[in-house]
Amino acid sequence: MSAKLIDGKKIAAEIELELKTKILELDSPPRLSVVQVGEDPASTSYIRAKSNAAERVGIELTHHHLSEDVSKPDLEKLIINLNETENGIIIQLPLPKGLEEALDFIQPENDVDGFHSVNLGNLVQGKSGMKPCTPAGIVEMLYRSGNNPEGKHVVIVGRSTIVGKPLALLLSQKGVDATVTVCHSRTPNIGEYCKQADILVAAVGYPNTITSDMVKPGAVVIDVGVNRTEEGLVGDTSYDVREVAGQLTPVPGGVGPMTVVMLMSNVVAASLKTD
Ligand code: NAP
Repeated sequence: MSAKLIDGKKIAAEIELELKTKILELDSPPRLSVVQVGEDPASTSYIRAKSNAAERVGIELTHHHLSEDVSKPDLEKLIINLNETENGIIIQLPLPKGLEEALDFIQPENDVDGFHSVNLGNLVQGKSGMKPCTPAGIVEMLYRSGNNPEGKHVVIVGRSTIVGKPLALLLSQKGVDATVTVCHSRTPNIGEYCKQADILVAAVGYPNTITSDMVKPGAVVIDVGVNRTEEGLVGDTSYDVREVAGQLTPVPGGVGPMTVVMLMSNVVAASLKTD
């Protein structure tokens, strides 16, 4: 058996079309500012992908590229000023040490990455608010690929604040109704948990963490990992997982495009609220 690939690029393109239609009805295009500190090459490539998507849907994106040694007050001043003019603001992570608090200077309603403490708090309480893009993109991809998570056992490997934890919250919310298990680097016998998953999510950051013997035959496997190797970009699952899984997201072309389009969707939502 060879797993059917879930085409994140195609699903993201469908959502882009829906966003484009909404944007055409606005008086002015939504505005997004992306703040980058330093020269991390991965950040530069992610910003390029966001910039291309913004252009396709009709969002005005401004890239503020600051040097590695920008002071905390200068960064905070920029964010405070952008709060006045922009619908959405993101600070591309990772930030140099000591600057992480700048994230909380973005007003919650402009926080289109969904990383502000207020938005994360709303998520915990099941209230409306900006949802983090990667978890929101995974949930959207599940629905749009015919994999309603209701009543399913979802095992998430990884408990980061930007992927694993918010995804567990989104999937276990009333109305979504999955049963969720979260594993991490201190989970013993991790394969035993993974093998019970109807939907298995790998968000770890190391290639080959999930091998075919850890996957229940026919399971849906969502590979969030982005690992740069000599063979190119690979996820967290080993190649032979596709012999056991029923469906699988490719890397690249799976979760990545969904993350970008959910960012665009958050910017449109922010602009509908404020304009
Ligand atoms: P992270 O903050 O480094 O978290 C990784 C998580 O994996 C941690 O909870 C860690 O456990 C756990 N872990 C590490 N080694 C493990 C192992 N051997 N077995 C089980 N769990 C293990 O990473 P992240 O930000 O969540 O990102 C994860 C991956 O997704 C990365 O490759 C990243 O590039 C990718 N990513 C992709 C997108 C996208 O749009 N495609 C978006 C975001 C992230 P502990 O908590 O115990 O340390």
